[in-house]
Amino acid sequence: MNDSPTVTPAMEDYLKGIYELGGALGTVSTQQVAGRLSVSCPSATNMIKKLAALELLMHTPYRGVELTAQGTLIARRVLRHHELLELFLWRTLAIPPDQGHREADARPTRAPRLTAAAGPVDRRRPALSSWAESADAH
Ligand SMILES: [Zn+2]
Repeated sequence: MNDSPTVTPAMEDYLKGIYELGGALGTVSTQQVAGRLSVSCPSATNMIKKLAALELLMHTPYRGVELTAQGTLIARRVLRHHELLELFLWRTLAIPPDQGHREADARPTRAPRLTAAAGPVDRRRPALSSWAESADAH
């Protein structure tokens, strides 16, 4: 990740959301982004300006946003990490995919947020990191 600017989890959520709306292929409106992220348009615009300053997307006022190559790369990475987390939760802890999806979405690039029922996951966090790294290498 040394090639990336400092990207917060909130920024990653935006990049992932914009990517899922088709922002790697064309322009997505600010309203669409706000709807996707369940935030107000001013909040979305505020974050979009930050992402544009980092050159992770191009912002055309009154038209919308489009991801840059770098923004697309990060969005794909976030999505891949999400899928790896789901797979890990399912294969090693038998957490069903629908629940795993919510856990993975809660913290896109970090260890899943734990519910009381999933207590044992906590002790396995180091295993998750190395598992995800080795899986990423393939
Ligand atoms: Zn999912």
